[in-house]
Amino acid sequence: MTLEKLLQSQGFGSRKTCRTLISEGRVSVAGKRCTDPQANIDTDNLFFEVDKQRWRYRERVYIAMHKPPGFECSHQPQHHPSVFSLLPEQLIQRGVQCAGRLDQDTTGLLFFSDDGAFIHAMISPKKMVSKIYEARVRHALQPELFEALCAGVLLHGEKSPVAALSCTPLDSHRLSLSIAEGKYHQVKRMVAAAGNRVEKLHRSAIGSLVLDESLPQGNWRWIEADELSLLG
Ligand code: URA
Repeated sequence: MTLEKLLQSQGFGSRKTCRTLISEGRVSVAGKRCTDPQANIDTDNLFFEVDKQRWRYRERVYIAMHKPPGFECSHQPQHHPSVFSLLPEQLIQRGVQCAGRLDQDTTGLLFFSDDGAFIHAMISPKKMVSKIYEARVRHALQPELFEALCAGVLLHGEKSPVAALSCTPLDSHRLSLSIAEGKYHQVKRMVAAAGNRVEKLHRSAIGSLVLDESLPQGNWRWIEADELSLLG
């Protein structure tokens, strides 16, 4: 692949912008400055630098973020900044999308990718990838709440009840629950339908991909190819 095409594929702007970056001597490939936009580059295990920042060539990108509160999962946020503002511009240029949304006040694991087919498969109702949440509720937990959540509750506007895959108490006011679907405000609506109220919500896992809680809120990390099977 030519160097200018490679940079374009990695989100560094139009072909013209990439050509300029290269001719200005701002790009190094495998540790050596390269000023020829037409240089033919082998992308296997390739590392390159743009303005001294190091990148690895990735055909597709997969990312896990620890979402902080006060961010919306939308490119056009209404009242709060967007989670996309926490990602580098190159990833936005590549068209990364998040797989399912978290409410602005929900924290925890968010998954992003520019692999549309992968995201589509992940959020497809057929696949039913489980999501694990920890919820803090207003009123002390009662056994009836767990019974209702596991048996299924009818949400306003839905035709059939939705049930948690599993549901366990963590302490008097905190529970962990796993759900398969990704309906709008699903956990808050389920808990409300079962007679309590979610005051704080955190997503700790998607499928078998568990949020590494040592990843600070607002930070993200690459998900490597061998971890993708955890999401299915
Ligand atoms: N369910 C909710 O109610 N809110 C979220 O952010 C995620 C799941």
